[in-house]
Amino acid sequence: MNVIRDLISGAWTGALDLVFAPICVACREPVSTTEPERIVCRVCWTRCRPLPAPRCDRCWGPVPAREDPRPKCRTCGEWPAAVRSIRSAFVMGTEPRALVHALKYGGWRAAAEPMSARMAAMTWPRDVDDEARLVVAVPTSRSRLRERGYNQAVLLADGFARRTGRASAPGLLVRTRASATQTALHPGERKANVARAFTAPAAGAGELRGEHVILVDDVWTTGATALACSQALLEAGARVVSVATFARVIPELER
Ligand SMILES: [Zn+2]
Ligand SMILES: [Zn+2]
Repeated sequence: MNVIRDLISGAWTGALDLVFAPICVACREPVSTTEPERIVCRVCWTRCRPLPAPRCDRCWGPVPAREDPRPKCRTCGEWPAAVRSIRSAFVMGTEPRALVHALKYGGWRAAAEPMSARMAAMTWPRDVDDEARLVVAVPTSRSRLRERGYNQAVLLADGFARRTGRASAPGLLVRTRASATQTALHPGERKANVARAFTAPAAGAGELRGEHVILVDDVWTTGATALACSQALLEAGARVVSVATFARVIPELER
């Protein structure tokens, strides 16, 4: 009986796959039904590249090889000490960009699951592993939330927190004013655009006090948004902030 049932259920799954053939959200090719993740194909994952070595221990930005003493990191050398560590799962490129677009603009909420799984696999300095218990997403504006129905950073933060045994705490950080979209702005303009755009409401101050928070966003471009958010969290009582993103724009490495 079990054999027959398995055959029938197998036939059903096969028939459903013919009707609703899974399509990779990044390349739009069919995803093989034998693949564990039906939303992104194996080929696209292999084309996503981790941040290359040698990289800065603190921010994973590119650093020159074999220089002794190592010069100040060009990326994080000027940051406040309370911004501890930055990690990104992949260098921005064709496939990571397609995934971010699918999640952000294409309504593919389910893409947040495999994306946050890659973020959860990143390695951190020991003190981050030991101390950081709270995960906070970069907030979006009310109007964008209304338009999209969700904040992609919250979906990534929830998945990342669940997979790393941390608590996702939405609401600890809010956007106080809608800033213009960052996409078309130069680095200096981006910084001015997001300065003071975020605040941590007083109601969450008790939860933040003394904590090492991991801030989550989909993409790290110039760091202006993440640093503005970090500043707001630190001013509200957080002790240290680290940042996790799915992709990182490294202009010299863009394909
Ligand atoms: Zn694909
Ligand atoms: Zn660095």
